[in-house]
This record gives sequence, structure tokens and C-alpha cells, in this order.
Amino acid sequence: MPLNIPFDTTYLSLPARFYSKLDADPVSAPHLIVFNYTLAAKLGLDTSEMSDEDAANLFSGNDIPSNATPFAQVYAGHQFGGFSPELGDGRALHLGELTTPTGRVDIQLKGSGPTPYSRNGDGRAWVGPVLREYLMSCAMHALDIPTTQALAVVKTGDFIGREQGRLPGAILTRIASSHIRVGTFQYFAAQRDVDALKLLTNYTIDRHYPDAKDPLQLFEMVMQKHATLIAKWMSVGFIHGVMNTDNVAVAAETIDYGPCAFMDSYHPDTVFSSIDRQGRYAYSNQGPITHWNLAQFATSLVQVMPDTNKAIEDFTTRLNNFPNMFDYEWAKAFAPKLGLPQNDVTTELAKGLLAQMANASADFTNTFSALDKTSATYPDWHAEWRAAKPDDALWRNTNPSVIPRTHKIEQVITSATDGNFAPFHAMLAALQHPFTPNAGYSLPPKESEKIHQTFCGT
Ligand code: AMP
Ligand code: MG
Repeated sequence: MPLNIPFDTTYLSLPARFYSKLDADPVSAPHLIVFNYTLAAKLGLDTSEMSDEDAANLFSGNDIPSNATPFAQVYAGHQFGGFSPELGDGRALHLGELTTPTGRVDIQLKGSGPTPYSRNGDGRAWVGPVLREYLMSCAMHALDIPTTQALAVVKTGDFIGREQGRLPGAILTRIASSHIRVGTFQYFAAQRDVDALKLLTNYTIDRHYPDAKDPLQLFEMVMQKHATLIAKWMSVGFIHGVMNTDNVAVAAETIDYGPCAFMDSYHPDTVFSSIDRQGRYAYSNQGPITHWNLAQFATSLVQVMPDTNKAIEDFTTRLNNFPNMFDYEWAKAFAPKLGLPQNDVTTELAKGLLAQMANASADFTNTFSALDKTSATYPDWHAEWRAAKPDDALWRNTNPSVIPRTHKIEQVITSATDGNFAPFHAMLAALQHPFTPNAGYSLPPKESEKIHQTFCGT
């Protein structure tokens, strides 16, 4: 029986210039690859009567429920520093919103066909990036880092053209607190559409930050949540890869997994995206670039304030506090990794270890998960660390052993492209238990397995 989703979509109460309503573009032969039953249960969905075929039809967009009004959202964004005034969901379709036991969420299909915002794109996605996003977001969730979550993957039965050749198409269904981006604000700010900005600001406050009394407080709360989020990314060696303002969710969840990766060998300058030639989104630049992205958010919000000069002053004061806020969150995220309380001594110890790891090209994840072994590699550091009397249970329980390593994901994708999804399911199972050592997934890549960048051809 088709799944009954009680859609309750508030975004459509905003004016028509916020989105385009449209139908999904059918696919040839939808086939369900994976469904996240755990997540469905948390969303309060009853899947007991849903067959794989029902799921494939629904989550390919072939069988849109009669109570859904699908739409694509419009937004803008700074891409690698340059402003694009109109982007929008070029290959995504919102089925709608759902009120769940833990709050309101969006349900979105990604790769569902062209929209008015597709520009020259085909509106599609292929199996590779879809499985990468599924694995990455599941890993993030298992690590307790705010993220959009994957609900389903459907293979479409169609092939799509990419620089690597003709590849099997797929559609990812994802769940997000919302898809409101910094770029959504920028879209209306660029048009000086103050009415729309006010509506969007109030909508965002109601939906995500009900305690914010005004746009300035909204900004402070968004800033705080981002400082925490990015510090958490840093603490697991995660590199988002494309922190354009259209990929920055105002709800401060990790969103739009493109050419992202968890680092193997540690170096602060590590970059994965093949088009990030300047290192704008390098590992260690993620704090500073978030500051920059938040400045774009502040610039948009200034327009809704009654007194522009005062607003610029107020937002600037808040924004100037971001580096301190981020340093604090960074220290808070790294202290338990050493099994120590957060203080200046611990922060220096963490930085000292990272500096030696960079020199040694040490594996980020495995160095932290086996800190006791640093007596051989970094004896002086190890002595200092022991002298600080760390809580051994704390660091052991804080540092994961299993992260989605790029070379393992590439192996999964290679198999899946040939129609074998067994490695995907095996890796997914391992990622659910990041603190359980698992030889199949904990080893860094051999020289021949190393992948230095992931491609944007998504
Ligand atoms: P991304 O870098 O994946 O966040 O995408 C940036 C923009 O390009 C967004 O507006 C996407 O919707 C759009 N886009 C990416 N891939 C495609 C595609 N295959 N077809 C149409 N639009 C796309
Ligand atoms: Mg995006």
C-alpha cells in the first residue's frame, strides 16, 4: 500500500515568488536501493504496509501523492566568492513538510528532473554522488553532528551523461529541518524586496528560532549554531568542500554533500574539491569562511531593520565576535578528544598535537582514536598529555574509529555503478557504529588507493 504521508506544508503560505510549483519528471524503471526505516519510524511514518515497489514509485517522483503540492525553492548564493543572483533547486523537488514527534521537517527529492532553476543542468543525479551523500549524512548523524538525513535511494533505470561517461541515474530523498539557506535571504536582498525579506525572517524565526525577539537575535543564534557545527566538523576531520552561501542552511545543519571528505592524513590546508584551486574551502579555512558567509547573511538582514546605520553597527559588532565564538567552540570540541577539560592548557596541547601530526602526515582519525600509541611517535607530547591526567574513557569514547573514508566510498561507487550494491550496504552498516573498531573500514588508504580530490560532476 502506498505510504501515507500527512503533508503539512507551511512554506507554500509564503508568496509565489519564493518557489515554483511543478510536477516531477517521471523515470523509466524506478528500483528501491535503500530505505531508512529507522528514520521513517522517527518521523512517525507507518511503513508496515509499504512495499519496495510503493517506495520506489513514491521516492522517484513517479507516484506523487494527491495530498502533496511539489515545488522547487528559489535562492541565490555566493559561489566561490562570486554572486549568482538566481540559483534555486535545479534538480530537487520538495514533496512537502511533515510535522514529526521531534519537529517540522522538509522531505525533498534530489535528482528528480529539471525545474525552472536548472539553467543548463539536466536536473538529475547519478548513483555515485547519491550514495556518497547517503553514507556521509548517515555517518554525520551517527557522530551526533547536525545534518540533513537520507531517507531513500531509488535507481531510476535511466542513464545520464557526465564527464566520466554515461552513468546510472538515482534519486536521493532527504529530510532537513528546512532548506532555507543564507542564499534564500540573499535572493530577496539582491532584489531589495524588503517585504519578502521580512516574511522570510519571520518565517525562519517561527520555524527555527522561536526565542529570537528580532532579526539581530536571530542572527546571533544562527551564528552560535554555525560556530558549534563547524567546530564539530573540524573535530572529526570533515571538509565540506563547497561552502557557498547557497549551501549554508540557516538551521545550521550540514547540507548539500558534494565533493566532501573526511581527511585521512592530517594537513590544515587539505582541499578536496577539484575546482577549489585557491583553497577557499580548505579544512582550516572553514571557520574563517563561515565568518564570511555569515557576513553575507548579516548584510541581507540589515535591509529589514528600520535604521540602516544603526543596524550596520549592531550586526557588525555581533559579527566581529565570531572568531572568539568559533575558537571557544573549537576548544570545546577538541578538549574531550584528549580526555581533558576545556581550558587554555588543553587547547595548546591539542594544537601542539595537530602541528606534529601535520609534519608527520599522520592519519587524523587513527591518531586520536589511539592517543595512547603517541608515546612512540610524539614522546614529548605524550608525556605532557599524560601529565595533564586525561580521562581515558572520555577520549576513547569521543574519538571515532570508523569514518566514511574517501577510498572506501569510491570502492562502493565503483561497484554500485556496475550494479553491485552489497559494498554500499556493508559500509552503511559499519558507519552506524563509529566507535566500534572495524578493520575493514578503519585503515587509511594504501598509496595506490589514495584519492586526492572528489569531482564536482555530481
Ligand atoms: P551544488 O553545488 O550541488 O550545491 O549546486 C549548485 C546549484 O546548481 C544549485 O542551484 C543546484 O540546484 C544546481 N545544480 C547542480 N547540479 C545540477 C543538475 N544536474 N541539474 C540542474 N541543476 C543543478
Ligand atoms: Mg547546493
